[in-house]
Amino acid sequence: MRFLSEYRDILRGARLLNPAGDINLHTHTCLCDGRDEPEEMVLAAVQADFRVLGFSGHGYCLHDLDCCMTEEGEDAYWRILQALKEKYRRRLDIRIGMERDFFNENHLHPFDYEIGSVHYVEVPGDFLSVDDSYEAAAEGVEKYFGGSWRKYVECYYETEGQVLERTGADLVGHLDLVTKFNRNGRCFDEGADWYRKAALSAVRRILSRPRFPRPAVRDLLGEGPLPVFEINTGGMAKGCTDRPYPAPFLLREIVDAGCPVVLSSDCHQRESLRFGFGELLG
Ligand SMILES: [Zn+2]
Ligand SMILES: [Zn+2]
Repeated sequence: MRFLSEYRDILRGARLLNPAGDINLHTHTCLCDGRDEPEEMVLAAVQADFRVLGFSGHGYCLHDLDCCMTEEGEDAYWRILQALKEKYRRRLDIRIGMERDFFNENHLHPFDYEIGSVHYVEVPGDFLSVDDSYEAAAEGVEKYFGGSWRKYVECYYETEGQVLERTGADLVGHLDLVTKFNRNGRCFDEGADWYRKAALSAVRRILSRPRFPRPAVRDLLGEGPLPVFEINTGGMAKGCTDRPYPAPFLLREIVDAGCPVVLSSDCHQRESLRFGFGELLG
């Protein structure tokens, strides 16, 4: 993994919430865009000696029906996971969360926790997906941002900075997802001043508001008031990125501010439950 020693260095001084790598709170199943059944994920977690497995299905979002659950789907998700929580009570601590997109609709269920994520930027009359494909992003940049990746990225971070205010979530998901298709600086220069400024201002805006996790996850995420950020290995598991989200300079900012961080695999199949955790933990 590129930057591995840099991540390990930063983590040494961090308030890492799952230092044994036996907790994952970012898990998808076939009830949204994942591959496996919830029970297959539970069994994989038991097999891997996990202590806590948190499910985070994509919540209902009108313009994202390929990836998310419908309203009825959310009902089924809730029922299925309640049953699994009870069935495996003695073997695994299951938490029922959800990944709430910035533009999600409201929710029907009192989830144990929510991950706040920006998967889209809003453009006139439409929403442009940030993590669908390079081609889709490039087309959107042409169509809505006059070909300027900079304007697109600035729009993304303007949105990202408001993610907790808007969603009321407990965790910040994949902070710099906009870099997913930017391997080797294909779309924009992550070292440029304007880039660092846009990304850091999103972090600072998130930090400017106190955040208190829901009671159901205070044992895992702490009492607040500092927001909790993911170190998310999902882009690596998909072969898109060479490093977790967020980039080292952003993680450094987060850790220096004293915020707790948590390793998340954002897994969509059971083999990836701990993806990259071993390398990051050393
Ligand atoms: Zn996501
Ligand atoms: Zn996810």
